[in-house]
Amino acid sequence: MGVSVKVIKKPERTLSEQAFVPEIAKGLGLTMRRFFKNTFASEDKKEIATVRYPEEQREYPERFRGIHRLTHRADGSPRCVACLCCSTACPAQCIHIEPAEYEPDDPRYGYERFPKAFVIDELRCIFCGYCVEACPCDAIRMDTGMHMPPSLSRDDFLYDKETLMSIPGRDGTHLTANPRHEPGDPTHPGVDREHGH
Ligand code: SF4
Ligand code: SF4
Repeated sequence: MGVSVKVIKKPERTLSEQAFVPEIAKGLGLTMRRFFKNTFASEDKKEIATVRYPEEQREYPERFRGIHRLTHRADGSPRCVACLCCSTACPAQCIHIEPAEYEPDDPRYGYERFPKAFVIDELRCIFCGYCVEACPCDAIRMDTGMHMPPSLSRDDFLYDKETLMSIPGRDGTHLTANPRHEPGDPTHPGVDREHGH
């Protein structure tokens, strides 16, 4: 059986390219031109693509998601009922929740839980927004318009419940416009201990 051989021609270079020195001089010339222009020219004439973060910040698009926040009820407690839908939906498995029961004298005791611990590893998060979509209570949102502040410590990117509840939305509030029907409230449409199936 015959073997076909494809011959690849060597790229053709001119003598000046082959000698490299003129090309190196051209590259250095470009670097020096940019250096002097960016050092001495006025701000609007500079050719710099980088931003001097954090002093200078780009304006984010309106639909930029931003880091998470946990929304509040009117009494300041978390809307989250620790159902684990968000952590189940999370493809990066970066949400850790420890559910707990309310005290027996709390009207929410017996059918609704709260997160004793709620931690998001923001460095593992891929900002897909699935947690927000999965939440049945509008308890977790990515409408802060903020990104994580820089830090050299890994632990600073583990956002716990208190941190997540301290972050406001773009509108400056910790609440959401969606109504929340509390147990005992006559508008409550669901099941509680007095109104079973
Ligand atoms: S945005 Fe996506 S990756 Fe990040 S916590 Fe939510 S579900 Fe997980
Ligand atoms: S944030 Fe929403 S989805 Fe996640 S545990 Fe709380 S109530 Fe469930």
